[in-house]
Amino acid sequence: MNNQDQIPRPAPIVDESSQPFFDAAADAVLLLQRCNLCQAYLWPLREVCTECLSTDLSWAPATGNGSVHSFVIMHRLFHPAFQEDVPYNLTVVELDEGPRVTSIIKGISNEEIRVGMRVSANWHDVNGTPLLHFEAS
Ligand SMILES: [Zn+2]
Repeated sequence: MNNQDQIPRPAPIVDESSQPFFDAAADAVLLLQRCNLCQAYLWPLREVCTECLSTDLSWAPATGNGSVHSFVIMHRLFHPAFQEDVPYNLTVVELDEGPRVTSIIKGISNEEIRVGMRVSANWHDVNGTPLLHFEAS
């Protein structure tokens, strides 16, 4: 296929455990799991707190603010749906709540991305599913 528009972008499969996250994402709210025992924020989705092994977890809204921890610029195409995006960034953002989230930075050129720069969460739609990305703040 030559037309990338005919190739759907892969989107997450929303299941029972991730439904609260995506419900909040539809309202542009970043939810993180939070341990009710030690108060640690968790990412990605867990069944057990990585800090204290408690299974008493709940959801809590995050600020969506963080800093670039690391990034790479992808020059190689791994999926034909992303043909028009190459080169694109893959960025690890350290949220102010602590967890590190692998995402992308939108709204600036790849050359402007710097470790330590402040970013904030935003959302874009992929096949009806809200996906997280970050923008310079
Ligand atoms: Zn804990």
